[in-house]
Amino acid sequence: MKFFIIIAFIAAISNTFFAVLVLLKDKKSLSNRLFGLFSLSFALWTFSYGIWLLQNNFEQALFWSRMLNLGAIFIPILILHWILSILELHQKKRKLLIIGYLITFIFVPFSFSPYFIKNIQPIFIFPYWPQAGFLYTIYIFVCYIGFFSYAFYQMIKVYKKSSNDAVKQKQIQYLFGGLFIGVIGGATNFPLMYGIPFMSPYGMFLIILHPIIFTYAILKYNLFNIKVIATELFSAILIVILFIKFLLSESLDQFILNSVIMAAFLGFSYLLIKSVLKEVKTREEMEELAKELEEANVRLKKLDEAKSEFITIASHQLRSPITAIKGYSSMMLEGSFGRVPVRAKKMLKRVLQSTNRLMFLIDDFLNLSQIERGKMQYNFEKTDLKEMISGIVDEFKTIAVKEKKDIEMSLKIAETENFIAMVDSNKIQQVFNNLIDNAIKYTEKGFVKINLYADNENGRIFFEVLDSGIGMGEETEARIFQKFTRAGEDIFQVHTEGLGLGLYVSKEIIKAHNGKIYAKSDGPGKGSTFSVELPRGDIKPPNTSPEQDYQKHDKRLEEFIKKI
Ligand code: ADP
Repeated sequence: MKFFIIIAFIAAISNTFFAVLVLLKDKKSLSNRLFGLFSLSFALWTFSYGIWLLQNNFEQALFWSRMLNLGAIFIPILILHWILSILELHQKKRKLLIIGYLITFIFVPFSFSPYFIKNIQPIFIFPYWPQAGFLYTIYIFVCYIGFFSYAFYQMIKVYKKSSNDAVKQKQIQYLFGGLFIGVIGGATNFPLMYGIPFMSPYGMFLIILHPIIFTYAILKYNLFNIKVIATELFSAILIVILFIKFLLSESLDQFILNSVIMAAFLGFSYLLIKSVLKEVKTREEMEELAKELEEANVRLKKLDEAKSEFITIASHQLRSPITAIKGYSSMMLEGSFGRVPVRAKKMLKRVLQSTNRLMFLIDDFLNLSQIERGKMQYNFEKTDLKEMISGIVDEFKTIAVKEKKDIEMSLKIAETENFIAMVDSNKIQQVFNNLIDNAIKYTEKGFVKINLYADNENGRIFFEVLDSGIGMGEETEARIFQKFTRAGEDIFQVHTEGLGLGLYVSKEIIKAHNGKIYAKSDGPGKGSTFSVELPRGDIKPPNTSPEQDYQKHDKRLEEFIKKI
């Protein structure tokens, strides 16, 4: 008996406490008001339950047993209303709710009549247990079973509909579980009301857990705050128990011991709640940050796409006038428009050289934007690399080498080997151009040697550019194939125009040909060797484009955000 009395009072106190807490938080919100109301009905029920069990007078016990059932009348409709408001169905189901309230109010005037509670009688360990009148049976079927079943039905329906909203589904799960435990707990009181003694109302114990409060906390204060509410509830229950123990102290010793325990627990609860609050705050901040990061990521992606698009358009627009400049200046140099004086010729060569560089730069930009958007197209065809390289070297010899005083440029092609390969000739030409152009750019004097040879057995072709230029350290070797990477500060003194894109684009092109590209140098000032290795046979472009890499990166970010 004592057990039931204590449980009832604890439930009454905690319900009142939560009703006040929730209403203080936001009394304008409908679901808060409904929660407050049903918590108060619950408190009325549990409070009267405790008092009724304390009675040893028939009249008083009958009065309080009727009072507790008055509280019980309101619980089903208020919970149904509350759940529908959380599921955002309360407007749609207004008529149904009105009917529900009307039915509920029909019971109220009869709650103190024998139609509702017939009598009280001793049963099980209880001296005065209420006996159900016929209206009470109707209440059980219509309100308790009917309203709660409807609430469960709506929860299942909304749960199924929210398959793409994991948070909502989780909330409904808690709501469902909480209500289920509460309904079963409450129902264990009924058998005794029909004189069936085999089931004792131990389900009352479930009520003290008040899982619905947790559910509410989850729904209203989001998932993290459940910890705070749970800690507060746990502490509150323990404090109430300790307080009751303190009041029941029988001797001075007990009194002192109980007060020390209670004081220590109060201090402990304070620290506990404080630390949980802090943790929740940190998590909320992290969640906020993750959200901002996600938004920034989306914005950046959009910006990146816009940038790539802009570069494509701008580069295409730039290409046509430059082609015209290049074409006309080379025709002038060749004498197509008459004889050109020697001094003008020298300047024309410079024009041609600069236009060439500009063209390379624009190509690099265009390629970069295509690579980044995963839109680089390859046109593989049988190409004689020997012929291609001879042409490129001739062009460089006529234009570039003459500019450099002390550079000797040589080309060595292994005689007997076969250099026919399946490549995108424009793109491979761009790679070779880039490597030779770099070798000239970064060499003040000495040589630029170009070698082409093949390994017929393994079907691989090797292209090499060796120079006696500025060379590079090991650390530089590892970095130069990254985009917008130029080695060291002093590179700007040697050559001011570069952007650090050529080698990145070359690497992407060679990757798409299933080939390899690498750089070697004995150190700064000791020249460099750039090598390209290409397979001769049919090439299937690799299946990871930078676009896919980007998406992979995005996935990783999403996973990270989900984790925190
Ligand atoms: P850019 O030449 O426009 O700077 P690249 O991507 O072609 O861009 O080259 C990247 C960097 O690699 C260069 O800035 C330079 O530091 C280094 N590099 C490339 N080729 C050579 C070379 N032949 N000798 C020394 N350093 C080189």
